[in-house]
Amino acid sequence: MKFVLATQNPKKLTEMSAILSDLGVEVVSEADLGVKIEVEETGETFAENSLLKARAVMEATKLPAIADDSGLCVDALNGGPGVYSARYAGEGHDDAANNAKLLDALRDVPDEKRTARFCTSVALIRKGMPAVTANGSVEGRILRSSQGENGFGYDPLFYYEPLKKSFAQLTPEEKNSVSHRRRALESLCDKLRAEK
Ligand code: IMP
Repeated sequence: MKFVLATQNPKKLTEMSAILSDLGVEVVSEADLGVKIEVEETGETFAENSLLKARAVMEATKLPAIADDSGLCVDALNGGPGVYSARYAGEGHDDAANNAKLLDALRDVPDEKRTARFCTSVALIRKGMPAVTANGSVEGRILRSSQGENGFGYDPLFYYEPLKKSFAQLTPEEKNSVSHRRRALESLCDKLRAEK
């Protein structure tokens, strides 16, 4: 079965395609199908937003659709920016502005209290079938300055202790083998296999 990935974020698309290809799942993008579906992320949780995106894309394409909604949850910010990660510095601001705002918000927070996690919810919507959802997260710590050039979003500020590097210092293969997105998609695939 072919699945359409419900995202227009090219970095997420690359990561999700690579992870799902590793897991033996064939996918197409919205761009491959010549569609561009704008979905307002009105949910209050990652799970609600991933379901909204997957449902809209399945309805538009009639293909089974997989969507991800994700973000950074920082303990010293009571779990923020969370679902607001993409718009933390305001609508239309870029990753650099979000990262600058995060560094500023944590300026007086000592190292041992800079704990955080990336979280992802993924949802699969197929016509006439119940939704399948799964979650994944990865623990880390927020650095005091950006390190590394790879990845996207908050990756340069997210220190991953097991590999002693920021997520932006990992190769794409390393990030895809340990990321929140990998864990969520693996769990989704396990649930699909269990259906058979
Ligand atoms: P979404 O498109 O609403 O899921 O927003 C996700 C936002 O969370 C992105 O714009 C990034 O700021 C952040 N984010 C999600 N996943 C990652 C990741 O793997 N690395 C770095 N930042 C991420």
